[in-house]
Amino acid sequence: MAARKSTKRCPACGKEFKARNRVHQYCSRETCRAARRAGYMKKYMAGWKRKHPNYWKTDRQREYMKDWRESHPEYFRVWRERQRRRARAKE
Ligand SMILES: [Zn+2]
Repeated sequence: MAARKSTKRCPACGKEFKARNRVHQYCSRETCRAARRAGYMKKYMAGWKRKHPNYWKTDRQREYMKDWRESHPEYFRVWRERQRRRARAKE
């Protein structure tokens, strides 16, 4: 028995196409396949972020801040000096 092919409408271009299976949602055009991948990544990342709510608050952020600090040494030098001056003013 041949598998019944259902006609679906591609959410990216709006055209109808023959779906190969239940999870086949986008047509085979390259732009629509790219849209499918982007949509999948977005969904995947959203789920991943829900599972790792502290990811950006912990190690990753610390690493990012370190990189940022290293690429903006001047900003932190000024900031530290301002902090020092403020601390001295309190004494
Ligand atoms: Zn399409």
